[in-house]
Parts: sequence; structure tokens; C-alpha cells
Amino acid sequence: MPVDRRDSQSTILLSVATAVPLNVVLFGPPGAGKGTQADVFAECHAVPKISTGDMLRRAIQEGSELGLLVKDTLQRGALVSDDLMIRLVGQRLEWPDTAGGFVLDGFPRTIEQAAALERMMAGRGPIVVIALVVHADEVVRRLSHRGRHDDEEWVIRERLQVYSDSTEPVLEYFRRRKTVTVLDGNRPPEEVTKAIEGAVSQAIERASNS
Ligand code: AMP
Repeated sequence: MPVDRRDSQSTILLSVATAVPLNVVLFGPPGAGKGTQADVFAECHAVPKISTGDMLRRAIQEGSELGLLVKDTLQRGALVSDDLMIRLVGQRLEWPDTAGGFVLDGFPRTIEQAAALERMMAGRGPIVVIALVVHADEVVRRLSHRGRHDDEEWVIRERLQVYSDSTEPVLEYFRRRKTVTVLDGNRPPEEVTKAIEGAVSQAIERASNS
């Protein structure tokens, strides 16, 4: 995917200059493009992409204890328990590669997880939340072209329901804390990438001035 690296270059300089870690959460419904954008962001800024969906799918593939525990939940499009997810992400955030920041994809998905993330991040710099808003019909169109196991129509419907019941309220939670920037995710991926770069730069600048 073509990426204009000039914007990200300035963000790197900015974050080095201010020593503010790039702690970024990409938020949005399934099919919003979080995974794709998280890949680009992680590569451009040399921070790890932490995708809870990828972690769980890998565990299932490996047939690990975790994988056996969550397999059925993923197949149904339901949410894995908060306890388990918070432990999983908490452990991942202790890896030294997260010192300069990270990009989270797929977490937090509940208010409980959002509150836990804030606790885990206390003293580790600001959390920049970027929410990608995408029309429902565009989400369905994108997911039905993706071909993942949990992209069958009834599972898609279930995951969208779970999103509006449990995950969308997290947006309001972050809004109240004024740490979220909402971006239009209906655009081509390169445009969304640029918008994310701009929003992260601004958020980091605000954080380092406050
Ligand atoms: P994703 O790849 O982010 O769409 O996640 C795929 C599936 O993994 C979801 O439908 C859930 O079953 C599970 N999952 C991923 N992240 C979380 C989370 N933060 N909390 C609960 N379940 C999750």
C-alpha cells in the first residue's frame, strides 16, 4: 500500500523531541480498517502492533491452552472474558518493546477493558485513541470480501451487534476523557493513514504541552 512517509517522519521527530511514547489505540467496528492501519502505523513508527484478534487466532492455530479456551467464542463472534483479555494485554504491555509506544488493535472492547488499560498505562504517558467511523453497509461489504473464518454472514451480524452493545460505549468513555479523535474511515486507506498521522501528531503535541 502506498504510504506518504513525510507526515509520519515528522511525528517520529516530534515524539523523539518530546520523549512522549506513541501509545495509540485504534478503535472502531469490525471492518473499519483497524488492522490495516495498525500495520502501517507500526511499520512507520517502529512500534509493535498489538492485535488481540491476531493473538487469539494464533493461540487457536497453535492449539495452546488459551486457544482451546477461546476457540468457540471466536467462532460465535462473541467477546472473550474481560479477565482473560486484560491479563493477556497486561502481560504483552510489559514487554520492553513497548517502551517507545505501541499500536493496539482490537482492545479495549468494553468499558472494563478501557478502565484496565488506563490503570496499566498509569505513568507511561498519554493514550491516544483514534476512532475510525465507518457506515454499517460499508462494514458489511468489506467483511464479506475478507474471507476470514468468522466472516460468515451470521457471525458478522453477531459481531456488529456485540460492537454496538459492548464496544461502542467505550467511545463515549474516551470522549469524556477528551483523549479520542474521531476520523472518517470510509475513505481510501492512504487517506485514512494520513488522517491518523495528523491526529496522532496533534494529540502528542497537546500532551507534551500540558
Ligand atoms: P478482531 O480480529 O479484533 O476482529 O477479533 C476477533 C475476535 O477475537 C472477536 O470477535 C472476539 O471474539 C475476540 N476478541 C478480540 N479482541 C477482544 C477483546 N479485546 N475482548 C474480547 N474479545 C476479543
